[in-house]
Amino acid sequence: MAFRVVLVGRPNVGKSAVFNRLYGRRRALVHDKPGMTRDALEVAAVTGSGRPYTLVDTGGLDLDAAGGFAQWTSERALHSVADADLLLFVLDGIVGLLPEDKRLTAKLRALGKPTVVVWNKVDAKAAEQGISDAHALGFDRIIGLSALHGTGVDDLEDLIDAALPPDLDADTRTAPLPIAIVGRPNVGKSSLVNALLGGDRVMVSEVAGTTRDPIDVVVERRVHQPSAPSADVQPDGSEGPRAATPADVRRYLLVDTAGIRRKGKTHDAAEILSVLAAKKSLERARIAVIVFDAFEGITSQDATITGYAEEAGCGILLVANKWDLIEKDRERCNRLKAEVQERFVFARRAPFLPLSTVTRRSVSKLLPEADALAQRYATKMSTGELNRLLQKSFERQSPRGRNGRDMKIRYAVQSGSEPPVIRLFADRAEQLHFSFERYLQNRLREKWPLDGVPLRFVVRKSE
Ligand code: GDP
Repeated sequence: MAFRVVLVGRPNVGKSAVFNRLYGRRRALVHDKPGMTRDALEVAAVTGSGRPYTLVDTGGLDLDAAGGFAQWTSERALHSVADADLLLFVLDGIVGLLPEDKRLTAKLRALGKPTVVVWNKVDAKAAEQGISDAHALGFDRIIGLSALHGTGVDDLEDLIDAALPPDLDADTRTAPLPIAIVGRPNVGKSSLVNALLGGDRVMVSEVAGTTRDPIDVVVERRVHQPSAPSADVQPDGSEGPRAATPADVRRYLLVDTAGIRRKGKTHDAAEILSVLAAKKSLERARIAVIVFDAFEGITSQDATITGYAEEAGCGILLVANKWDLIEKDRERCNRLKAEVQERFVFARRAPFLPLSTVTRRSVSKLLPEADALAQRYATKMSTGELNRLLQKSFERQSPRGRNGRDMKIRYAVQSGSEPPVIRLFADRAEQLHFSFERYLQNRLREKWPLDGVPLRFVVRKSE
């Protein structure tokens, strides 16, 4: 059963134009004349990330057409709306909210279907400024869009993508999570890779490169389900041990293990090689495991490498290896923990794992930590919640641009994910002042679980 995305709205708000933008081809007729309606049109569409869905245009739901609610109750439109998995409620931002729109809102809310409000025609100033009216309708997801110019269409596709049920996305779910293990020479990266491969719950298969010197290594981990109270009755009612299903196996791609093993002949060469290897593998990873030496403490090189991981947009997991060498010294352990908080400024609140590849202390915690981090890394912020939070934040501290001048931010959407990117629509395209950006970062991190996840802001000028 294909996921049905259904466009609704009164006539002439631009549903056909939105339809054409999403479908990518001009199949439907677009007319400027009021009252122009068409038959429901249904096509097989795909999102930007290539996931299929069915896109349906209902024509116009004209509550004031001859016969009052005649058109609304017409079987075809009603069926389309009733069968919808996601409604795109299109409004005309230039005209603003009409009484019909409000009545339609009441109808749609009564249906309780997941709904995205599409505030169209934001290429016009009036529409751009009126978008706050759309928030008053009480729907969570609101997109400012110009079907004419194409702005906002990516964001809408992202929302459709996010609404698709996860089982349509089996490929990405079973694709291994790419992890880069980086750090200075001799902190124990190779030992950590070996420890991960040697554990009793991992299996290894080698990809690319030669068997002797594999480049990327896939590690599998069986995820043990919590057992039911009675040992031989399973949650699904069946008896006996449950066979592992693909969902019980997690896969990880350890990026460039050959680079980890490659050693420089001199100390300097080793340092340079480790930084080069780190930069290259961070580009291909989603999670960066930053290994440092608990005995030596944190060095500026460790902070530099963490900075690269941030720049590369990786989720960050800090590992203090060789914990066995200091664990008996309570005070020293606590000092190191405090130092982690101070030194890794942007990675503050990144998960921190003290570990030893010699005693194997906490080695088995690393992959589950990476999973939890990957989940935070994929955080999706709803447009409604995001804008409410930002409005509140702006009341306490008003936005400032890089040069310190006040800035007006009208609206925000999460325009990218993994890692999350927030696009801010402002009166000018200027980067945020660093202290204001830090303030916003903190507000967002209070609301969403983003520990260890880099968060980016992009400022766009809104006309
Ligand atoms: P890499 O250059 O980061 O890959 O570091 P290696 O894995 O080659 O390890 C460097 C040295 O640290 C080796 O002598 C390891 O035996 C040692 N080492 C690695 N992990 C630990 C640990 O958890 N505890 C202790 N005491 N030594 C370790």
